Amino acid sequence: MIRIKRRALSALLLAALLVGGTCAYAARFALSGGRWASSYVNQAVYSGGKIAVGEITDRNGVVLASPAKNGIAFADDEKLRLACLHVTGDAAGNIGTGALAAFKSRLIGYDIANGVYARGGYGDTVALTVDARLQKAAYDALAGRRGCIIVSNYETGDIACAVSVPTFDPVSPPERAELDARYEGVYINRAISSAYVPGSVFKLVTSAAAIENIGDIYSRVFECGGSVDIGGDTVTCTQPHGSLTFEDALAVSCNVTFARLSLELGADTLARYADKFGFTGTVSIDGIKTAKGGFRKGEEGSPELAWSGVGQYDDTVCPAAMLRLVSAVAAGGSAPQFRLVSRSALSRLFPPAAERLLEADTARQLALMMNYNVSRTYGASNFPGLELYAKSGTAEVGGGRQPHAWFTGYITNDGCPLAFTAVVENGGSGASVAGAAVNAVLQEALRVY
Ligand SMILES: [Zn+2]
Repeated sequence: MIRIKRRALSALLLAALLVGGTCAYAARFALSGGRWASSYVNQAVYSGGKIAVGEITDRNGVVLASPAKNGIAFADDEKLRLACLHVTGDAAGNIGTGALAAFKSRLIGYDIANGVYARGGYGDTVALTVDARLQKAAYDALAGRRGCIIVSNYETGDIACAVSVPTFDPVSPPERAELDARYEGVYINRAISSAYVPGSVFKLVTSAAAIENIGDIYSRVFECGGSVDIGGDTVTCTQPHGSLTFEDALAVSCNVTFARLSLELGADTLARYADKFGFTGTVSIDGIKTAKGGFRKGEEGSPELAWSGVGQYDDTVCPAAMLRLVSAVAAGGSAPQFRLVSRSALSRLFPPAAERLLEADTARQLALMMNYNVSRTYGASNFPGLELYAKSGTAEVGGGRQPHAWFTGYITNDGCPLAFTAVVENGGSGASVAGAAVNAVLQEALRVY
């Protein structure tokens, strides 16, 4: 009797193992089937080591890459190839965040029921959310300068353009780019995979913290004599700003005022907001992870803490993370999930939940201030026809080099719910240099988007 019991038990155990194993395999198959199918072991989908099926288009069906006899054919238009390199990817797969690498399993037409070649051997079309015309406008606007421009629709989360420079023509990739200074970081999409010193665009974070934590912030008057001594260091402004309201302090980007606010808020509060806004973490854009930035807490009362709230010290921010914050301001506090792959009509009916970054009231206050920045400082006439909300940054990078120029914000023009972040490395003034680049892209958006 005992023996039978024992046998029954071990048979049961074996059966349980079998069921468990099958379930585990099925789960892994469902999760990783696409990756297995597009593995280099599966030579059917490769030609000469390059993926040879599937087509990549922009949001309007403009073909960016398609299968060809010897691997991949890229767009005929050279400027489009240069502008789209980082979203499309290269044949060798060096650009890991490009669609050719990142969306490989979709390109080969993999689906869980049919396996690969679901559509007769040609793979699937991956329609990206980017607009070829905005890609070219952003490429022109950067004019060969290093940096990036990323634009998104803050209602849908669709990335409308993402251009990174330096770039190269995927038809004739540079040999040994890693040894050539002209191509420094060329395999990186700077908009998604890098983090820069933010400079004054970080004042949006300090402002949000001040709005929510300093009760009388709007009734205060700040005095700026052009510099302030903090713990043996001097925080300076470009000029003495005199008496300022909080709104004025952001509009003229007064370092003295924001240094004082940073000390008052304290390191823990500033760090909490940098975390909450996603600057120190990553977000996934259709599986592509954005770069983490950093925020180091300076000691209470220290010049480091003062500088950290001004966007200097050890602060770094990924352009896509900054884009997400201004998207949230534009959308009343919640940031929609970013997308690089166009969604089907069905899935558009059920968009993924937006994530709340800001209280609705804080978003509204920041919006008013960002609009005031434009009328008071950047000059509405420099952005004709745009209903613009923005913040500039001129981020000191040391080493005798020109600062990085940042410009971030959004517009509310009818049919153009677009947010943007632009960085021109060592470009100088944020408002005039990065602002002009953004203006060129948005003018094109008003025409075509
Ligand atoms: Zn000042």
